[in-house]
Amino acid sequence: MNLDPLLLEILACPDCRAALRPDEAASELVCTGCGLAYPVREDIPVLLIDEARRPGPSTSGPEDGG
Ligand SMILES: [Zn+2]
Repeated sequence: MNLDPLLLEILACPDCRAALRPDEAASELVCTGCGLAYPVREDIPVLLIDEARRPGPSTSGPEDGG
């Protein structure tokens, strides 16, 4: 993905208003505050809480690895 650094500076998490950091591998913008991961589609960040991937639960779960 190819995001404008100036764009990243003005973007903020719509949930908690924290800064976002790009995750190139996942093509996501990850909130540095609450940890929500927003998808980036065709180089356009989709800053919708409904579209965001929630951070995994810190308690026990069936998934392994990660
Ligand atoms: Zn957040």
